[in-house]
Amino acid sequence: MIQLHDLQFEPYISEEEIEGAVEKISARLNADYKDQNPIFIGVLNGSFMFASEVIKRFKGDCEVSFVKMGSYEGTSTTGTVKTLVGLNQKVEGRKVVILEDIVDTGNTLEEINKILEAENVADYKVATLFFKPEAYKKSLSIAYIGIEIPDKFIVGYGLDYDGLGRNLTQVYKRKE
Ligand code: 5GP
Ligand code: MG
Repeated sequence: MIQLHDLQFEPYISEEEIEGAVEKISARLNADYKDQNPIFIGVLNGSFMFASEVIKRFKGDCEVSFVKMGSYEGTSTTGTVKTLVGLNQKVEGRKVVILEDIVDTGNTLEEINKILEAENVADYKVATLFFKPEAYKKSLSIAYIGIEIPDKFIVGYGLDYDGLGRNLTQVYKRKE
């Protein structure tokens, strides 16, 4: 059990399970984007650890960029997604892979979709380490999903609770 601010969290997804999910997504990305020179766009802050692990495993040429989006306050979404740092790289005509830590309601993805639609990319796909199918309210398809979880609040492996917990190497869920 661990404590972050006022809440207690219990172990939920092990390092081994996370690594297995990362390996599977990476194997598919290596096959699907062989010789394509994709641009990986990580969604900060939460995706920094997942992005790093996936990009380390990519074997061909690739480029890396980040955008910074924010919608969460404490343990729930505010419903409004803010673009805190936008795309500062030309992506026109390129193959883009969005790297997300977790897709919850899909509000963030929708916002990113708007940004990319304005950029005339060749095509883009989404890879997310975690996915909450019960909470997802959008119809955008997610090509690469690591681990599906119920609609619970998790921390660790990049994900935070009000700033804390991002450094944890396994994932914890809020204790009920
Ligand atoms: P969405 O816009 O899909 O509702 O939420 C996406 C963002 O909300 C994620 O990238 C992540 O930053 C945050 N988020 C969603 N669910 C969780 C969760 O269970 N734990 C944490 N720490 N952040 C979450
Ligand atoms: Mg995120």
